[in-house]
Amino acid sequence: MKNEAIAKFAQSLRGPAIGRDHPDYDDARKLYNASIDKRPLVIARCADVADVIAAVNFGRDSKLPIAIRGGGHNGPGLGRVDDGLVIDLSMMKGVRVDPATKTVRVGAGCVTGDVDHATHAFGLAVPFGIISSTGVAGLTLSGGHGYLSRQYGLAVDNLIEADVVLADGRFVTASEAENADLLWALRGGGGNFGVVTSFLFRAHPAGMIYGGPIIFDLADGAAVMKWFRQHQPKAEDEFNMFLGLQVVPPGDPFPNEHWSKKMCVLVVSHNGPLAEGEKAVNAVRAALPKPIIDWAQPMPYTAIQTLFDPLLPKGLQWYWKGDFVKTLPDDAVDAHMAHAAKLPTGLSGMHIYPIDGAVQRRKRDATAWGYRDAAWSMVIFGVDPDPAKAPALKKWARDYWEAVHPFNLAGAYANFMMDDEGESRVKAAYGENYDRLATLKKKYDPTNLFRVNQNIRPAS
Ligand SMILES: Cc1cc2nc3c(=O)[nH]c(=O)nc-3n(C[C@H](O)[C@H](O)[C@H](O)COP(=O)(O)OP(=O)(O)OC[C@H]3O[C@@H](n4cnc5c(N)ncnc54)[C@H](O)[C@@H]3O)c2cc1C
Repeated sequence: MKNEAIAKFAQSLRGPAIGRDHPDYDDARKLYNASIDKRPLVIARCADVADVIAAVNFGRDSKLPIAIRGGGHNGPGLGRVDDGLVIDLSMMKGVRVDPATKTVRVGAGCVTGDVDHATHAFGLAVPFGIISSTGVAGLTLSGGHGYLSRQYGLAVDNLIEADVVLADGRFVTASEAENADLLWALRGGGGNFGVVTSFLFRAHPAGMIYGGPIIFDLADGAAVMKWFRQHQPKAEDEFNMFLGLQVVPPGDPFPNEHWSKKMCVLVVSHNGPLAEGEKAVNAVRAALPKPIIDWAQPMPYTAIQTLFDPLLPKGLQWYWKGDFVKTLPDDAVDAHMAHAAKLPTGLSGMHIYPIDGAVQRRKRDATAWGYRDAAWSMVIFGVDPDPAKAPALKKWARDYWEAVHPFNLAGAYANFMMDDEGESRVKAAYGENYDRLATLKKKYDPTNLFRVNQNIRPAS
């Protein structure tokens, strides 16, 4: 592609177009997962919808592969593409809370912490994930689960409206009243249908929660996991807890005597009256072996949303594998314990997040996200700062997954997949909604312009 064409495109934008000779190029192409090294031809940092329309038209007419970047957190780095155009939305950051209607309008470049900060002032929150630097866009478009999901559903269940630039450059709004089929597809179909420029969410009460991590020695891990499989699904919707198999970080504020011990952690969060939260957590404490650390306590919702951010800064090596899980038989628990005992680095681990309660009460075809009968969403993550460890992280995560996958459902949460799993796994991630998604892909993006994602091919 000629430099003049890129220069002409750059002149049509309000935001910067960052090409390979731009001084900010190397910084601009960096992703959260430092194991991904992609060299786009040009990164269009869009300032507004007009820039997005110009970028989509330029990418399509120049026959460039196009990636869409929200928060840049995606595991396989699908917010970047080699030798193509990146539509980078990171500058489009506005958040407007309407306390009267309990809704919040969110620019596509926001991370979840931007929204939590804005809604918290009104005692409200949208169900997002557990690390506040994650992009709202990528998280939402593939589902979005977190501490509030059992109570209020997934992020997609609270998506009321989205503004979208389609592959042909048209700007449309998707809501129940207008382009309802597009809204259905955006509620779980990922970045397949167009560039979302803003989201309108329903928000819910969340002020103070009673929660935090309760950490057990890994020797008690099997007992904790067996308790979790039986009792977590019976908890009231306000009470969320996820289970992790990890390593105690060797540093403050963790007590020195536990540094680098392998652990089983329950991260609990009760979003209701604090006294009821304490009572619910006390019942957990009474039922389980003595923890080595217990930091569950009252805290603002925004505190639990950011609690683990310092442990996971941008720039680490990541490899992930996930699955949806319906049951956890004893043999599965044994397999988890065997692989947790071999954790390759201090930041690697496994999390199993509940997706029951309000998530399960929606019909499987109500949104594109269809795993309404799964109990949990599991992710195995190999993480370390050292690039030399990347092959070992990958091998450990794959071996672990091979051992537990036979006990799990066929598909995984699309946001917990790398890009090396093959088309059958991508189809399994969308499950029984895949065919309808393929039909809508044909309607809204017939040439598969938006294909740098967990791709849905247009129906033939
Ligand atoms: C540390 C960590 C913790 C996480 N915790 C959770 C969690 O608790 N719950 C959870 O649900 N997920 C969680 N995730 C997964 C997260 O949801 C995904 O990584 C998600 O893809 C990140 O979105 P992003 O906008 O930051 O990503 P990007 O890399 O910017 O984008 C990912 C993909 O989303 C699509 N996309 C992005 N923006 C747009 C847009 N505006 N329009 C159309 N398509 C777009 C594109 O296809 C793009 O390729 C976590 C991830 C990390 C790294």
